[in-house]
This record gives sequence, structure tokens and C-alpha cells, in this order.
Amino acid sequence: MNSPQPEKLNVCIVGAGIIGLCAAWKLVEDYGSNDIQITVLSEHFHPQTISFCCGGLWEPYAIEGTSDKDLNRWGQATFDHFKEEYLSPNGVKNGVQLMTVYTLLEEHQDATPPSWASIVHSFTLLNSEDLQKMGVPRKYTRGYSFGTYVVDQKYYEPHITQKLQKAGVRFVQRKLDSLNEVVNEFDCVINCSGLGAYHLVPDKTMYPVRGQVLRVK
Ligand SMILES: Cc1cc2nc3c(=O)[nH]c(=O)nc-3n(C[C@H](O)[C@H](O)[C@H](O)COP(=O)(O)OP(=O)(O)OC[C@H]3O[C@@H](n4cnc5c(N)ncnc54)[C@H](O)[C@@H]3O)c2cc1C
Repeated sequence: MNSPQPEKLNVCIVGAGIIGLCAAWKLVEDYGSNDIQITVLSEHFHPQTISFCCGGLWEPYAIEGTSDKDLNRWGQATFDHFKEEYLSPNGVKNGVQLMTVYTLLEEHQDATPPSWASIVHSFTLLNSEDLQKMGVPRKYTRGYSFGTYVVDQKYYEPHITQKLQKAGVRFVQRKLDSLNEVVNEFDCVINCSGLGAYHLVPDKTMYPVRGQVLRVK
């Protein structure tokens, strides 16, 4: 006699931005599609998400209220994930690039190395002599450089969506007015609605900070 199949854990991820998609992928990696059924439920999918038009640079800033311990635990996991993607055969084609970032500081600015300096590649302090050799304006007297990943969402979001579809993840287009609409349908609901959480939770402490992407030829 066949023993009954154990039921799959039925998980709903609300939101299909980079956080929702990467959360889904982490669950696929950790549980495998035999033990878990994931549904990504979202009002919008790429290219209509905020994630799709972001810069995609790994460099934490404006992280008010987050402890260095949490920042570096989460930051390290993200950095490792994109390092693995970058080193995979199609890493660059999927939008993941390794880039050197130069941070230039004026004399009055704080030059203490950031807490995440040990996570990135080749973190190097720069003095005025180094900067002058680079030909930067003289008002910059100190700085640092480091290697990090930049993830072009135009390529990365379609890539990760395809990986999720292959792993049996379901995608459902639906706008929720409350998380309560789905709590009885699933064993677990993960909220990845970004700024949408302002109305959905509702979390009235949510507010956009800033963002600017400049494309140069
Ligand atoms: C111009 C710009 C540049 C940026 N550059 C960088 C950068 O270089 N590096 C970096 O780390 N960050 C950057 N950011 C920030 C980054 O874009 C965001 O932190 C990130 O995209 C948030 O992802 P998310 O998945 O949480 O949200 P989103 O991408 O906003 O996704 C939210 C998802 O939830 C869904 N949703 C919301 N409400 C509901 C609802 N009621 N019912 C159903 N679905 C719902 C939406 O449809 C969407 O699919 C930048 C942001 C901007 C604007």
C-alpha cells in the first residue's frame, strides 16, 4: 500500500519586485519544489515594478534604524548571492556585473570606513596623493574604492522569473486591499509589497527616500 504523500507547504509571496522574486528563489533553494508550492501574487510584474528601474548597486546607505549586525548579515547574503550569479556561465548576460566604486570625500566629510568594508572586494582607503593621480578635483582630499556588484534589472528580473517558472512557482496577477484576503488560502504569506505596504498592511510609517539613475553614453 502506498503511504499518503505529505502535503506541500503552500506559500504566498505578495509582490513581484526584486525582494519578492529573490525571496521566492531562496525558498526554492532551501526547500526544493517537492516540499513547497510557491505562488507569487502581485498587482504588477516587470517592467512595471520600482525594482525594474532601480540602479541595482550593492552599497548600503540611508539605512536609518538598521543595526550594523543586521545590515551586514543581510548584506553579506545578498553580496554572496550576486557573486554566485556573476560567476555562473551566464552571469553577465543576466545583468550581473562587477564594478569598482570610487567614493570621493571633501576634508570636512567623515572618512571612517563603513561597517560593510570587509564584505566588498578590495576595500582601499585613498589619500589626496592617490586622488590627484586620478585627476579628480582638488576639493576631494580623501576617499575609498571597492569592488561590488551592479545588477541590471532589465536582464535580471526576466532571468530570475524564468528560473522560478522552471521550478514550478506560480504567478498570479491580483491587487490585494488587505493581506487578510489571502491568509486563509495559504499556510504562510510573505509580504514583499515594497511601498505598497503603506496601504496594504497598512504601514503608515513607510515613505519613499530617494532614487536617481543617470545613464551616460
Ligand atoms: C531611481 C531609483 C534608483 C535606485 N537605485 C538603487 C540601487 O542602486 N541599489 C539598491 O539597492 N536600491 C536602489 N533603489 C531602491 C530599490 O529600487 C528598492 O529598494 C527595491 O526595488 C524595492 O524592491 P521591492 O521588491 O521591495 O519593491 P517593488 O519593486 O516596488 O515591488 C513591490 C511589488 O509589490 C506589488 N504590490 C504592491 N502593493 C500591492 C498590493 N496591494 N497587491 C498586490 N501587489 C502589490 C507591486 O505590484 C510590486 O510587484 C533605487 C530606487 C529608485 C527609485
